[in-house]
Amino acid sequence: MNYSRQRETVYNVLRSTKEHPSADWIYGECKKIMPSIGLATVYRNLEQLVLQGKAIKVPVGQDKYRYDADISLHCHGACTVCGKVWDEEISATLNDALNAECEKNHSDGFSLTFFRVCEDCMAKQEQ
Ligand SMILES: [Zn+2]
Ligand SMILES: [Zn+2]
Repeated sequence: MNYSRQRETVYNVLRSTKEHPSADWIYGECKKIMPSIGLATVYRNLEQLVLQGKAIKVPVGQDKYRYDADISLHCHGACTVCGKVWDEEISATLNDALNAECEKNHSDGFSLTFFRVCEDCMAKQEQ
């Protein structure tokens, strides 16, 4: 099995969505393209993509992560009911403050996730 082709498949699947998928979801999609690929391989390649700076890992609770091919500095929102993850709009003031903090600390980036109930789940609760 060609390692670079596996990594490319994982990367292409991740890049094809804005849904911030879980490793399991990525695995499912990769299997459609490359039926012999294993879950451990998908995990390993995701970690490599993160290390290479091609993807970011979004922590969404204890030992739970979602992946994002958008490596620009941005914040996330995560739904505490359905687990959906999205790009959260933050104020310019907060954005400037976060970037200034990164610069001060020589950080490569930050990960900030707001946990709340998403609009879909909110609408369902109101019914
Ligand atoms: Zn939700
Ligand atoms: Zn994102």
